[in-house]
This record gives sequence, structure tokens and C-alpha cells, in this order.
Amino acid sequence: MALKLKDMSLLVGLCKRRGFIFQSSEIYGGLGSCWDFGPLGVELKNLVKDRWWKSMTLRQDVVGIDAAILMHPLTWKASGHIDNFTDPLVDCKACKSRFRADKIDIKEACPTCKKVGEFTEPRAFNLMFSTQMGAVVDTSSTVYLRPETAQGIFVNFTNVQQTMRKKLPFGIAQIGKAFRNEITPGNFIFRQREFEQMEMQYFVKPGTQKEHMEAWKETRMKWHIENGLNPEHLRFKPHGPDELAHYADAAMDIEFLFPMGWGEMEGVHSRTDFDLKQHELFSKKNLHYVDQQNNNEKFIPYVIETSVGLDRHILALLCDAFEIENEGKGEEERTVLKLKPQMAPIKMAILPLMKKPNLEEMAEKLLNDLGKHWKCEYDDAGSIGKRYRRQDEIGTPYCLTVDFDGLEDQTVTIRHRDTMKQERMKVDQLQNYFKDHLM
Ligand code: ATP
Repeated sequence: MALKLKDMSLLVGLCKRRGFIFQSSEIYGGLGSCWDFGPLGVELKNLVKDRWWKSMTLRQDVVGIDAAILMHPLTWKASGHIDNFTDPLVDCKACKSRFRADKIDIKEACPTCKKVGEFTEPRAFNLMFSTQMGAVVDTSSTVYLRPETAQGIFVNFTNVQQTMRKKLPFGIAQIGKAFRNEITPGNFIFRQREFEQMEMQYFVKPGTQKEHMEAWKETRMKWHIENGLNPEHLRFKPHGPDELAHYADAAMDIEFLFPMGWGEMEGVHSRTDFDLKQHELFSKKNLHYVDQQNNNEKFIPYVIETSVGLDRHILALLCDAFEIENEGKGEEERTVLKLKPQMAPIKMAILPLMKKPNLEEMAEKLLNDLGKHWKCEYDDAGSIGKRYRRQDEIGTPYCLTVDFDGLEDQTVTIRHRDTMKQERMKVDQLQNYFKDHLM
């Protein structure tokens, strides 16, 4: 179960150095717990989103939507977020640091300034960001940045069910930004104030929720493993009776072993009919489902929700992929991101051995041919060893080196990231080779 990445700061450094993730507004000193995905980070993000989206919507029983971030304020009254979406909070009177009361012992010293007995009484703190809509600023114009994407799905239940003529059981999937004014943010992109969720609400007939919950649990765990996470770093964590939300009849987290310990990556929750009932109550619109196969029986469906943090899944992928080989052994030391080839932001690097016109011509032709199908990077700067190391650090599974022998017999060297083994291959065999290895 040993983790290869022991210290998150190593990963933060690599992500910045190699264009995966930058601190938000860095030139102004940064903005707390907001991060920007750079050129390689956004490629990785899009790969994950694409895999999730396909895993959901290539099924006949799930369709997608993309709802607005801003929603009618009553949405959040109905969902309970205005009244209940709070963390208990204490301030240190001495240094003004703020902590979640459930995460520290207030009888102990302040973790920041080390003074004892300076904490305020815990207070409730709403995690939703609010803003004003329209030209006039008054309380009636307050709207919220959604703290989860799920409510956009619930309020569209009838729209989707009727326009798509869906019969139970069926699901609605969505990927989008969510915002939470987290009190104890940190651990890189694990806990951010602006993040992305991939959520799917699966509407089922009451009484069948247990079997659907079991099926989704397994499906979702499999997805994480298929993306390349080490199964030993994954576990199910059921919510105990005292942790269970009042509206849920069962809940399970999928946790990952991060360098700072086990942490939630996805929730698979059986939410009963709570959400739709609440929206029916507050909107005064009928959100019942009519079961035409069963004497037009009318009822509010139950919901199984799968909710995964895109950023947390990416953090898990990076943590598992990060490895320093031959640490401390000078020239032999190398940092490698052993992402599954399908998840690598750059699939192949095309490297002319030297800056010579005939080598460059052949390399550019390769780039032209392969770059139509896969994300390639062309690099002709510096020694070949340094270029390989750079590609290792960003997880590129294949380096194609064009040398003088290759000009003669139309071959290139393929250098494999994990083994560093090299093999020669005919140029006209490359497309098929990569089709087999990268699809
Ligand atoms: P936590 O207990 O860590 O605060 P949560 O139980 O509030 O998480 P959910 O509301 O179930 O989280 O959200 C579903 C998923 O969204 C989580 O499993 C996580 O992957 C992701 N998520 C939630 N909050 C954040 C955040 N502040 N930053 C990044 N991802 C988040």
C-alpha cells in the first residue's frame, strides 16, 4: 500500500513547473484555494471529463444536461442549503486564523500561533457564495453560485423525462463548476473554493433503490480503477447512522489514499424522494412521474446519486502516477508521471536527434501524420537525454526519435516511458501500433 508520493509539495512543484496547475491570479499573490489548470492540466481534465461523460451517456438509460450556475434563489431554500449548508467555525482571537470546529480540539493550542484558550465559541458559517443579480442591489436580488450541480438536475427532472420520453429507471448526468466558501481549504486541489463536479442522478421506482445503489457503487469503483488508480488506494466508506444525511437511506463514499491520508473522492448516495418532494413543495409544480406501464400510477421517484469531484480524481491520478526513481543517485534520478497512456496529456513526443534539415523534415512529417490523431509535442531543443526527462515528467508514454539511420530505412526509435526501453519501428507501422496501444 506504500505511496510513491510522500509529500504533496513535490507534486505541486511539478504541476507548476510543467504547466499542469498554477495558483489562481499568481502575479497578484494568488487567491486562496483557487487554482488554474495550465495547458497540460486542461488536457488531463478534458480526458477525464470525456471518459466520465461517455461512461454515463453511452448508456441508453442516461442522458446529459448543462444547467446554469445561477439558479432561482428558492432552489436553495428547497434543497436546504440556505438553512443547513454550514460548517461550525471557530476563530483564534490572537492571530485571527479560522478553523472548522469539528476538525480541531479547541482546548488545545491554535495550530497557527500556538496560543492556548483563544478560540471563540463555534458559529455556523454558510458555505454558499452569494452575489447580486440585476442593476439594483437589495436583498431580493441576491442569488447564489451553486454549491453543487445536482439541483440543476432535480429542477429539470420533468423537462428531461418528458422531452426524452424516458421511463424509469433513468439518469441525468452533468459536469460543471460548483462553488463553496470552504473554511479550511487546502491540500492543493483537494479542497478548493471553485471546483468541478461530475454528477449523475438516477431516478428509480421507490423500493428498488437498494439494488440500484449496489450496481452504481460497483460501476463507479470500476471507473476509477480503469482510469489507472491503484485498487489498493481505493476503498468504500459507508456513512454510519450518525453521519447519514437526514434525507438519505444509505450513503457510501469512494475514498482514495492521498499523501495526507484517506479522503473522499466520490459520494454514492441513496437520497430517497427528498429533493423532488422539496422542489414540488417550493415550486408548487407537479413533479410526479406517471408510470404508463402500471395503470398510470403516479409517484415521486427515488434517487441514487453519484457525485465525483473532477479535481479530486485528477489529484488522485497525479498522486498515484508520481514516482521518483533512483532518488538521490545523481544522474540516474528521474521523476516520472506513470499515467496510464490513455490518460497522458501528451501521447507522443517527436524528437529529431539534432537540428539538421533532413532530420527535421522527417520529424515534421511524422508530426503532421500522427498529430491528426493524437496530441503530440515536437521538441528539438537541448540534449536528447534532457528531452526524454522532460517528457517523463509530464507522463508522455512514447518518445519517437528521428535519427540518421531512420532516414535511410524509414524507421524511428520508440522509447517507452516506464521501462526506458527503445525499439525501432517502420514509420508506416506507427499508426496501427498506436491505435492498438492508445485506444
Ligand atoms: P467533504 O466532506 O470533503 O467536504 P462533501 O461530502 O461535502 O466533501 P459532496 O457534497 O458529497 O462532498 O460533493 C461530492 C464530491 O465533490 C466530493 O466527493 C468531492 O470529490 C467533491 N468536492 C466537494 N467539495 C469540494 C471542494 N471544496 N473542492 C474540491 N472538490 C470538492
